[in-house]
Formats: sequence, C-alpha cells, structure tokens
Amino acid sequence: MSENKVVVQRKVIRNIALTAHPVGCARYTRDAIARTRALAAGTASDTRYKQVAPASFPKRVLVIGGSTGYGLSSRIVAAFAGGADTINISFERMPSETKTATPGWYSSHVFEKEARAAGLKAVSIYGDAFSDEIKTQTVQAIKNTFTGGQVDLVIYSIASPVRTDPKTGTVYQSVLKTLGEPYTSLSLDIPTRKITSVTVPVATEEQAADTVKVMGGEDWMLWMERLKAEGVLASGVRTVAYSYIGPEKTFPIYRNGSIGKAKEHLENTVGVLDPLLADLKGKSYISVNKALVTRASFVIPVVPLYMALLYKVMKERNLHEGCLEQAYRLFTERLYGPEGIQTDEKGRIRLDDWEMKPEIQKAVDEAWTLQVEGEEVVAGDVEACIQEYDSLHGFGYDDIDYNEPVDPQVIA
Ligand code: NAD
Repeated sequence: MSENKVVVQRKVIRNIALTAHPVGCARYTRDAIARTRALAAGTASDTRYKQVAPASFPKRVLVIGGSTGYGLSSRIVAAFAGGADTINISFERMPSETKTATPGWYSSHVFEKEARAAGLKAVSIYGDAFSDEIKTQTVQAIKNTFTGGQVDLVIYSIASPVRTDPKTGTVYQSVLKTLGEPYTSLSLDIPTRKITSVTVPVATEEQAADTVKVMGGEDWMLWMERLKAEGVLASGVRTVAYSYIGPEKTFPIYRNGSIGKAKEHLENTVGVLDPLLADLKGKSYISVNKALVTRASFVIPVVPLYMALLYKVMKERNLHEGCLEQAYRLFTERLYGPEGIQTDEKGRIRLDDWEMKPEIQKAVDEAWTLQVEGEEVVAGDVEACIQEYDSLHGFGYDDIDYNEPVDPQVIA
C-alpha cells in the first residue's frame, strides 16, 4: 500500500460536505456522461427527451462555475451531446497527501480525461472567477484552446458565498436571509431527518446589497465586457446565467429574500448585456431552473424540505429531472432545438415549467400540511435528496468499498 493512501469517509457538517471520494466522484461523472450519450443517441431508457442533431450545437463553450451542479451538467451536455470543446472555471480545494479535494476537482479531471478520449479539447482553470487574473487566464485559454480563438456560448453558473470586488478589493459576503419581517417556517434537519421550525432573520440593507454584489449580475457583465474587449466572443455568441423563482411557499427565503434581490439583479443584467452583444449579433439569456440538490442549494434554510416533498411528487408523475436532464432540455429544446429559442413573456428560458405545474405545486402544498415539528418527514423523499447530495461527493455507491484506502491525488 502506498503511503499516500487514506480512507475517505463521508463527513457532512451542517449540510456541508467536508470530503469527496475520488473513485466515487469519477463514478458520478462517468455515469452522467453515459446518460448524456444515451440521451443523444436515442438509446436512453428515459424517453422524455429529444435526440439531438449536434450540428445545431455550439462547438466552443465556456462554463464559469462548471465543476459541480448545473455548471458541470451543462458542460457534460455541451461536450457529450453536442461535441463541444469546453473550458471550465471553478474554485476548488486541491488534494493533498492526506486530504481530499473538492468534488469539482475530481469531476473536472475525470470529465477532461473522458472528453480528450473522445477527441474533444477540455481544460479547467481553478481560481476565483471574480478576479481580473482569472479572467485574463481565461482569455488566453480561449485563444489557445478553441478553434479560431473564440467562444460560441458562455454559461454563467456561479454560486458563491463571497466575492472580492476586483476594482476596490472590498470583500462582500452573501447571506440567505429574508427581507421585511423575520420568517418562521417548517424546515428539515437533515442529519435526524426530522421536521424542525426555523426563524429566518431579516437581512440588513447592507447585507442585502452585499448579496447582490456577490450573486447579482455585476460579475457576469464584467466577464462579457472583458471577453468582448479581447475579441474572443464569436459572432452570434450566446450567454446564459441561471436563476430560480420557485413557489410562494419559499418566497420569503428565496425570491423575496436577499438571494432573490441578487437574482433580480442578475436577470436585469440581460438589459445591459444585450446592447453590449448587439454588434456581434449576440444575445444573453436567463434560464430559470428547477430546485435541485446541489452543494449550493442544500444550505438554504427551508428549501431542503421543499425539495424532499417536490422530489416525491415529481417522481410519482414521471416529471422529476436532475441537473443533467435540465441541461439537456436547455440545449435541445430551449436554446439550440429545431423550434428556435423558447422563452416566457419576459424573455426568460423556463426549465422550471414542470416544477411549477399547478398540479405539482398543489400536491407539494398538500404534503406540506402533513408535516409535524419533531416528527420525521411524511409524503416526502428525504433519502433521495441525501443520496443525490452524497453521490455528487462520490459517496453512497453500493459497490465502492469506502473502507478501502485511496490516494486523494489520483484521478480514478
Ligand atoms: P454548485 O455549488 O453545484 O456550483 C457552483 C459552481 O460555482 C461550482 O463549480 C464552484 O466551483 C463555482 N464557484 C463558486 N465560487 C467560485 C469562484 N469564486 N470562482 C470560480 N468558481 C466558483 O451550485 P448550483 O446549484 O449548480 O448553482 C449554479 C447556479 O445555478 C447558481 O447561480 C444557482 O443560483 C443556480 N440555480 C440553482 C438551482 C438549484 O436548485 N440548485 C436552481 C436554479 C438555479
């Protein structure tokens, strides 16, 4: 046994995973790639999706925040359904001899191994996407990596608790708080699987403004301005950023909370980006996505309970999707499908259409009324949410022996 091998066990504290399993993360990523290939080949057992004509897909794709969750799925679909060369920008902890990396580090390396084996170019830049330095490195990577030195699609999929303003050096923290009055709601204590009551505090005006600084559209705009100024945006370029709305039940914590203010700002940024991209015949979009378990969403108060109920209701009606299926629908039915670009009356792409169906929301509301503080969740699928969270960190696979030592620095 090599000295560098350590036993990597699941360790989750306050809904934040502290470890990631190299072999399990590789499994997670390869499974997602295989599912994408099957969808694109029309051989998937899930028959809800259209097979695609890859000719319509972008061939040079930059994903900012492309190592986990929605960003990783978007990258996988771009490459393995559409044949795109891809660049990912993400913030990762590197592995050491004794400590594992963040899951995004493993998933990105595995993705790149598979992409290169398929004849696609794929690189990652690890660092702070908010900084000028990473933007400079990205411009260079676009010139060096992509044919013609330009990009056709920029996906902005950052979820971060903190941002350093590149001009002033001021550090801003985002908060997940409500606005107006404190908000008390049932919630889910994931370790015990029990219903709890939480009171979400009110964000101060400064905290709300800081959250907009971190998760609003300023950085998306800075990225696009920089990429345009450097001449690396292709004619007809498209850029998409991800947002969330959700049902009224979660409005006090999400849409009408501090994060909702940031999402509003992100959505309004389209009004600045479209004129910027006009001479390139480019266009910017917001895609409103479904509530799904990711590293970012699992720490939002109240939302995990909503997701546990939502998952069960949507699964029962064969409407449940993961990030991968959402990304697949984004590419094939909203952005690059034969019907052309599909948006709502406000110009937003809606991938939350199935989540927001009245019958789905009615069933979730009914399930919500059954929950009792101190009791276990009823009429919900907590285990599915936990499994999803675990699997994206490489845990919970029956055939992986988690007592077997592994080298944290080796890509499986
Ligand atoms: P995630 O935590 O899985 O992914 C976040 C990504 O951002 C990761 O790749 C991470 O490395 C990267 N990142 C964070 N800080 C960074 C930094 N400073 N520099 C470079 N990279 C950085 O989260 P997610 O849920 O996939 O979120 C992605 C986007 O999708 C967010 O805008 C989120 O609001 C939106 N969204 C999420 C949901 C949901 O339910 N999960 C629903 C709708 C929209």
